[in-house]
Amino acid sequence: MSTPTLTNYVAGKWIAPESFETLAVENPSTTNAIAEVPLSTDAEIDRAIAAAKAAFAEWSDTPVSRRCEFLFELHRLLRQNSESLTRLITEENGKSLPDSRAEVKRAIENVEVACGMPVLQQGDRLIGAAREIDGEVLRVPMGPFGMVAPFNFPLMVPFWFFPYALATGNTYVVKPSEQVPASMHRVAELIDEAGFPPGVFNLVNGDRRAAERMLKNPDLRGISFVGTSTVCRIVATRCAESNKRFQALGSAKNHLVAMPDAKMDEVIRNMITSCYGCAGQRCMASSAIVAVGEQTYRDVTERFIAASKEVLTANPLDPAVVDEPMVMGPVISAKSKRFIHEMIQTGIDEGATLALDGRELIVPGCEKGHFIGPTVFTDVKPGMKIHETEIFGPVVVILKADSLDEAIAMINNHQYGNGASIYTQNGHWARRFKLETSAGMIGINVGIPAPVASLPFGGMRGSLFSDTKGQGRAAINFFTEDKIVTERYWPEP
Ligand code: NAD
Repeated sequence: MSTPTLTNYVAGKWIAPESFETLAVENPSTTNAIAEVPLSTDAEIDRAIAAAKAAFAEWSDTPVSRRCEFLFELHRLLRQNSESLTRLITEENGKSLPDSRAEVKRAIENVEVACGMPVLQQGDRLIGAAREIDGEVLRVPMGPFGMVAPFNFPLMVPFWFFPYALATGNTYVVKPSEQVPASMHRVAELIDEAGFPPGVFNLVNGDRRAAERMLKNPDLRGISFVGTSTVCRIVATRCAESNKRFQALGSAKNHLVAMPDAKMDEVIRNMITSCYGCAGQRCMASSAIVAVGEQTYRDVTERFIAASKEVLTANPLDPAVVDEPMVMGPVISAKSKRFIHEMIQTGIDEGATLALDGRELIVPGCEKGHFIGPTVFTDVKPGMKIHETEIFGPVVVILKADSLDEAIAMINNHQYGNGASIYTQNGHWARRFKLETSAGMIGINVGIPAPVASLPFGGMRGSLFSDTKGQGRAAINFFTEDKIVTERYWPEP
């Protein structure tokens, strides 16, 4: 059976691709092709941006409450279609159905927050800034914005940005990851059904070349990028050169610190979800555990390895497992699996102990799938490559620290600072951790400290290449420009 070829959505129309170059979109559990994704040409990208530019004047002039009515309709359609979207995410990305369901839910929550724009976009006014002079800050939309998305949250990540961009009066062009373009394609169908005016939201398909063209096109006023820090650097440089606004959210190595007083039963369960959910491919997944003190290290190591052995690795769409609360699916691709295998070999070579090895795992019936079982290294020291590198798979390294100070230093000396969590019942330790740890998102007895939609999302240091983050108020600031008005009226004679 032939698979559908996805199309671009530009100026309210589905446009047949002009390039014959396509990539297969595969279900990573089975490697069966589910779609073909076209690699858009420069001209196709430019046309989508031109459509967004053409739609801007009318859309930005549309009353904010009217703009939100389209988002309310999108919200209704997303809810109505949430189960089919959930399944589609699992098909193209491989994560479990509960994980995909949570992804759709968070996307919907971002639409809800953006629907508050009639209040959120209000500016400020200073009466009597000087004698008979008032000052006013207007938050104005800027023009067409673009978004380049990663593979690990095919649907949710664009929602950290575009609902806010549209609600504030900007127009938009999204390029999903070429590995998982089907979910956003379906969202574009719902946007079409919601009746947004043509050109307000556009979808383009393609690989890095499409993203590079977006970076070059002078008509895009800004770019939101989420992906590896290597590409964040490129995005930051290109955008600075062409005076585009940008936000670039990058790679991570999130640490979980277990203190001696941690509630160990709850902690181990929580760590397992954090480390193995989405096969370790969440940007908020933890992949480094730091146990403070010899006894804690022994307890955590023993119990975490035992619990890791119990993790069910399977095709999440296998009817036998769909109702299981925790299933670990495959990693995204053969390339990713190869890299993870190489990193496991690196860990062995640099002297860490491979306490649990997931390389040989086979899922019956899915022999070609990109599965790796839970893998745990102990005796890991800071600075080892398996600690320094974002492996982005179900590979966990366990380190020992003699004190909270040493644990915090391990996190703060790491190149990435996306998320970090502490497990303790001690308020003093928790307070020190939240104030002294250099990571953008902190958890206290929460293994995946991903903020809700109304709060900003983003890391620090090597995990964030911009001043602004995604979601909530941060997104609103990104998509609006302050214009400051100083005004005076002379009295009539
Ligand atoms: P990636 O950087 O390989 O690709 C992301 C996007 O960039 C894709 O759409 C791709 O087509 C495009 N791209 C690739 N090379 C490019 C180039 N040279 N120039 C311009 N565009 C280019 O990332 P990925 O593998 O899809 O996603 C996983 C990464 O994303 C991980 O590092 C993960 O930590 C990170 N991530 C971070 C966050 C966060 O909030 N910090 C959230 C989700 C994912």
